[in-house]
Amino acid sequence: MGKPDILIAGGGIAGLTLALALHEAGYQPRVFEAVANLAELGVGINVLPHAAKEYERLGVLDALLAEGVELERYMWFNRHGQEIWSETRGRKAGYQWPQVSIHRGSFHRVLTDAVRARLGDDAIVLDHQLTGYTESPHKVSAQFVSRSSGARRDAVECDVLIGADGIHSTLRRGFYPDEGAPRWAGNMMWRMTVDLPAPILGGSTMFSAGTGECKVVGYEISAAAKRQGRSLFNWIAEVKLGEDGATPPEREDWNRVAGVDEFIDYFRDFKFDWLDVPALARASGQAFAFPMVDRDPLPRWTRGRVTLLGDAAHPMWPIGSNGASQGVLDCRALVDALQNYADAREALLAYEAVRLPATAAVVTANRSRAHDEVLDLCEARAPQGFSDARAVLSAEEIEASLARYKQTAQFDKRQLQA
Ligand SMILES: Cc1cc2nc3c(=O)[nH]c(=O)nc-3n(C[C@H](O)[C@H](O)[C@H](O)COP(=O)(O)OP(=O)(O)OC[C@H]3O[C@@H](n4cnc5c(N)ncnc54)[C@H](O)[C@@H]3O)c2cc1C
Repeated sequence: MGKPDILIAGGGIAGLTLALALHEAGYQPRVFEAVANLAELGVGINVLPHAAKEYERLGVLDALLAEGVELERYMWFNRHGQEIWSETRGRKAGYQWPQVSIHRGSFHRVLTDAVRARLGDDAIVLDHQLTGYTESPHKVSAQFVSRSSGARRDAVECDVLIGADGIHSTLRRGFYPDEGAPRWAGNMMWRMTVDLPAPILGGSTMFSAGTGECKVVGYEISAAAKRQGRSLFNWIAEVKLGEDGATPPEREDWNRVAGVDEFIDYFRDFKFDWLDVPALARASGQAFAFPMVDRDPLPRWTRGRVTLLGDAAHPMWPIGSNGASQGVLDCRALVDALQNYADAREALLAYEAVRLPATAAVVTANRSRAHDEVLDLCEARAPQGFSDARAVLSAEEIEASLARYKQTAQFDKRQLQA
């Protein structure tokens, strides 16, 4: 019996990574993507060491490192710009694999190029938006429309259908028609990039500064800019505007281009000796506004020969740089399960049994802001600032907090290298 014919709906980071992982295991998957033209959209993203390990195995890590910046340090500051804690990251911290900060568009291009080079130009089929499917005992028939014309496409038969179609997943909505819109944290994020003549904090450094109510996160993302002595800096200004669980802004307003005037005032006091946030905002010019949303963990991802993967299965708040990386871990678990079970339906259930609880734990940890817990602890204990950070939060307390998050998100060093 040959390998099952696998159709992946969605050519985002998770769908393309799955295509590469399946191909490495001897499958010939096809990716059906809704958009008609692939564009290099978005701003920055971090690839954590657990995902970098997978990309090394798939032979694309060097290409990611050639585009992005290898992160060496993470720093946390209070809203007065005082340093609370600093730790090394990636190989600098003794991991076997790096942490890579990269432009999302470059990341996507590296994956697209690799899929086309290995599986053929026709492995990614554009302008095919999945609308639904029917399943018989041995086959799935996937239905599509053209996003550009709205016309119905021919149905495509496969043995297994994977929904890697993101937070607004059609397959997920089909499984859970009453789920409704994503859940909004009440926080708005404005995401920007700006070309700087010199790096912030010496470069190769990511930081979080502020509190859960008003925060700046930043890191540089371009190897090319770094080689020229400049810094392409990706940053996010995040402000709490509504209650947790409030109705999110209309979907049409997601990824809206916004002027920095929308948020600059919240950061008028963020003028530190190492960073002037209002000046950085003015230099950035414009931003993409995006509500911070996730969805509740699901009871099941799988029905018969169909399952969910990546953000379609477990969208999470982007606190801890984990969303895409968790999708990459899904890919490994799914391919391993398909290898281990002769019946694809059993393989999908085995994949779900491993990944659903693991990702639900990360969704929950991110809701409690576990990765940035030190910011809110510091604000609660020393709202006016401090003269000695260790008198506010001990090294043991911070290390324990960060270790818990890394274990939950499965990028604890010992866990990963075992
Ligand atoms: C501000 C911010 C910062 C982040 N930072 C990080 C980070 O540092 N590290 C990290 O790991 N993650 C990060 N994330 C999360 C990460 O961006 C997502 O988890 C990841 O992009 C999800 O990938 P995906 O492929 O599952 O979904 P998507 O990227 O949403 O891709 C889904 C694809 O499916 C296509 N599609 C949709 N519907 C259909 C359909 N019906 N039929 C066919 N195709 C369809 C879409 O066009 C799209 O191409 C961040 C997120 C945000 C918002």
